[in-house]
Amino acid sequence: MFVTDLHHFLDLPDDTPGPARRLAEHLSNIVRAATAGDAGTTWMTTLPCRRRPAHRSCPGRMIVFRSEFPAPIHWQCSVCHDEGVISNWQDSPYDLRCRDLALARPIKEVVISEKVAAALRDLPLLDLDCERLVFAMRSDDARIILPATDDDLDELIGFVAAEANHETNRRRQQRLDTALEALTDAAQKDVR
Ligand SMILES: [Zn+2]
Repeated sequence: MFVTDLHHFLDLPDDTPGPARRLAEHLSNIVRAATAGDAGTTWMTTLPCRRRPAHRSCPGRMIVFRSEFPAPIHWQCSVCHDEGVISNWQDSPYDLRCRDLALARPIKEVVISEKVAAALRDLPLLDLDCERLVFAMRSDDARIILPATDDDLDELIGFVAAEANHETNRRRQQRLDTALEALTDAAQKDVR
């Protein structure tokens, strides 16, 4: 069991070595997902496992459970069963819990590809609502599902379009264009 205090991974100095930085990113993404999704339920995020048993990437994804504060966030890999807890997550920059009451609006279950999910997770400059939307993506068998209302989708499309517009790297721009296409297609379908 890997026990961590998120405070030790916040505001890392500039000279922090790569592995520590990647671990910090991994843990903060777990906190973002666990706080973007519902409390009191165990669910599978889209976050990949970072272990490499026998020099091969573990194909598992992070399964998370969060009860109300002050309980730590529990995470576990769906394949290798690597597991841990993260304490002191509340009110960190990665705590995406919704502060205001969300209005009940029809929610679409948008099915997206692994590549689109990765492109969305890497988007910079998301506002809090969009960040919550992206980190609440879940894995369901072989599918990745983005639960979103029409308004959420519109907002996210706006972000992706703006990002694709000023991206100068061609490969990253193609990735964003693919994401944009997938979201636009989903937005044009009726809620069911
Ligand atoms: Zn694993």
